[in-house]
Amino acid sequence: MIMHTIPFSEFGLSEPVLQAIDDIGYEEATPIQTRTIPLLISGRDVIGQSQTGTGKTAAFAIPAIERLIADKEAGVQVLILCPTRELAIQACNEIRKLTRHIPFIRAAAIYGGQDIDYQIRQLHSGVQIVVGTPGRIMDHMRRRTLMLNSVKIAILDEADEMLSMGFREDIDEIFSHIPRQRQTVLFSATMSEEILEITNLYMTDPTVIRVMRKELTVEGIDEYYYNIPHSHKIEALSRLMDVYRPEPAMVFCNTKKQVDELVSAMQQRGYVAEGLHGDMKQQARDHVMNTFRSGKVDILIATDVAARGIDVSGIGAVFNYDIPQDYEYYVHRIGRTGRAGKSGLAFTFVTGSHEMAELRGIMKYTGKEISNSSIPTSAQVMECRRKRFALSVCAAVEHEDLTEYIQMVEQLSDEGISPVEIAAALLRSEMTSGGKTAIPSEADDFAFAGHERRRQGDNRRQDERRERRKYGRLRGNERSSHPTSKIYINIGSSAGLLPKHIVGTVANEAGLPGKSIGRIEINERYSTFDVPQEAAESVIEILNRTRIIGRKVTARLYTEQF
Ligand code: ADP
Ligand code: MG
Repeated sequence: MIMHTIPFSEFGLSEPVLQAIDDIGYEEATPIQTRTIPLLISGRDVIGQSQTGTGKTAAFAIPAIERLIADKEAGVQVLILCPTRELAIQACNEIRKLTRHIPFIRAAAIYGGQDIDYQIRQLHSGVQIVVGTPGRIMDHMRRRTLMLNSVKIAILDEADEMLSMGFREDIDEIFSHIPRQRQTVLFSATMSEEILEITNLYMTDPTVIRVMRKELTVEGIDEYYYNIPHSHKIEALSRLMDVYRPEPAMVFCNTKKQVDELVSAMQQRGYVAEGLHGDMKQQARDHVMNTFRSGKVDILIATDVAARGIDVSGIGAVFNYDIPQDYEYYVHRIGRTGRAGKSGLAFTFVTGSHEMAELRGIMKYTGKEISNSSIPTSAQVMECRRKRFALSVCAAVEHEDLTEYIQMVEQLSDEGISPVEIAAALLRSEMTSGGKTAIPSEADDFAFAGHERRRQGDNRRQDERRERRKYGRLRGNERSSHPTSKIYINIGSSAGLLPKHIVGTVANEAGLPGKSIGRIEINERYSTFDVPQEAAESVIEILNRTRIIGRKVTARLYTEQF
């Protein structure tokens, strides 16, 4: 999601809450959290709307906990109404996690279907936070085992669900027992007339915060693809940069390693490029982003994960240096291009028939054709550079005072260098960025063209068969020609680990395609899985920093003899 978020450290939260957030592993606040937490801490009534899964629970729980820490009063002070027992249990668990370093704060989940005596004992033992479903809450109110006269914060969670489940009257009843002098909070994924009615009845001057997903579309973007061998991608990228001049441009790679390699390759060729990926310290990332935003960097080369949440406008072109692992990623990546009033440009490199199939999948997903195109020839690149030089010369002659420089040329020609030679030397320097940018080689033209002919010609089917065989080998057979490394992690089935957790974590955090993860073996206390050898080191490093199913893990290369 492309939206502004901030680190939790910027809310001025208390130490034990920050510690708990860190334990859970949240790195930064989600957009809805970013916008509602400060308001809620200031005591305002808030209506928060955002999609499911955007972290609304912590958005209301964190400010409520802060209030409890500040007041330290007895009795039920926070009441949270949820539509279902599952949601009540979930919210209560999240609250318990967030309060694990604050022993005096206790929360109870109160829902139908659980032994009522157990709940009565819980309520009796003194809880400040009650999370419950309306029916069972009313039950306890009638039994006078739950008193709401000390409630200071009333929260309606998943309000739309609550209403569609017919809890309107229960809500009215419950609210009639809560002191009017309170903070009232309502969170919902959708809004309706009925919800607005509730807010009118029960809230005081509420602030409405809506965080809707920015609809990304591929409309107004010209999309091209190039079927080229992997070894020619750097040259292809350079030529497209030279001809289209789309600065600032974003280039997406699937792995951090590829980002690093491409950044140094492009820098060596004289381009002003910087990289962005998850291994970089926050400070370094901020620095790169600032230089890119300010226009000092022409090309930002990034992984999907690192680029998440980055919203830079006016991107001239997006390059899919590696074809994205996910159709949705494609839309996210290219949705960043397009300048005001002008159409955006998206270039995708594909290698081989397997990636061609993926590209066709992307076209189906977006419903838009991506046109096949050819990499500009060296002659075209040079012609572009020449035209650009001619334009800049014309502009200088017309608009600038060159007297001083004309004198210098005259002086040099007195010394025996002809004006034509002077101009030629300057032209060479200009067209190669001072000798840094290579003149594109014609040999590469043949390689590009040759590849295209092969792809289109008789060899095509044979070529595809070969690709398929190669791909089949990679997937199925461990003894493939593609070298893999076995990675060990110190959790297994006893911790509830499933193969999908490994695939998910490695794919999300290391940016490795799920399919590149080979054989996974889950034992009771440890697990192993294969990754491409070149990715092993960074996968291990990442796993040692991240959590799988909420747990810190130790990862290393697997050796038979430990
Ligand atoms: P919602 O109520 O909006 O549907 P939840 O509060 O249930 O969303 O949160 C959805 C998931 O996101 C949960 O697994 C939660 O632990 C996680 N989550 C919440 N806040 C963050 C955060 N700041 N960073 C990462 N994950 C988060
Ligand atoms: Mg929720």
